[in-house]
Amino acid sequence: MAKEHIEKDIIIIGAGMAGLTAALYAGRMNLRTLVLENSLVGGQIATAADIENFPGFERVSGMELIGTLEKQAMNFGAEIDEFDRIERVDLKSTPKIVETETRVYETPVII
Ligand SMILES: Cc1cc2nc3c(=O)[nH]c(=O)nc-3n(C[C@H](O)[C@H](O)[C@H](O)COP(=O)(O)OP(=O)(O)OC[C@H]3O[C@@H](n4cnc5c(N)ncnc54)[C@H](O)[C@@H]3O)c2cc1C
Repeated sequence: MAKEHIEKDIIIIGAGMAGLTAALYAGRMNLRTLVLENSLVGGQIATAADIENFPGFERVSGMELIGTLEKQAMNFGAEIDEFDRIERVDLKSTPKIVETETRVYETPVII
């Protein structure tokens, strides 16, 4: 069966601190934003018990920090898709292509 083609303004690969922060800003700019994560949302920071150097927090767990950031990004309209493995990325085509197991995404911007 042919894969569904979907257009996005920006695709972010990886839903760790960096990816979700990018998604928060892109979503806030009203860009159609998709974050693709091949595992669980969170990245490395999700395994940190106590973070003491994040501005604005004396101490916060990684799970709490990433949960808040995920919600913030989604509140600004970013979509987060876990476990749809990326099979191919074409950075040379216009638009750029990200092909996953189930879909083909077209986008001008990939982070
Ligand atoms: C135990 C521990 C404690 C830590 N404590 C602190 C601390 O107290 N203070 C501090 O400043 N830093 C700390 N760090 C470091 C901090 O966690 C990292 O610097 C930070 O999480 C990096 O975020 P990132 O988004 O750049 O990368 P990552 O967290 O590595 O996220 C990358 C994401 O991309 C996903 N990904 C990778 N390849 C693909 C692919 N092909 N397709 C889809 N998704 C993909 C991964 O699954 C992952 O979710 C700690 C790290 C650990 C492990």
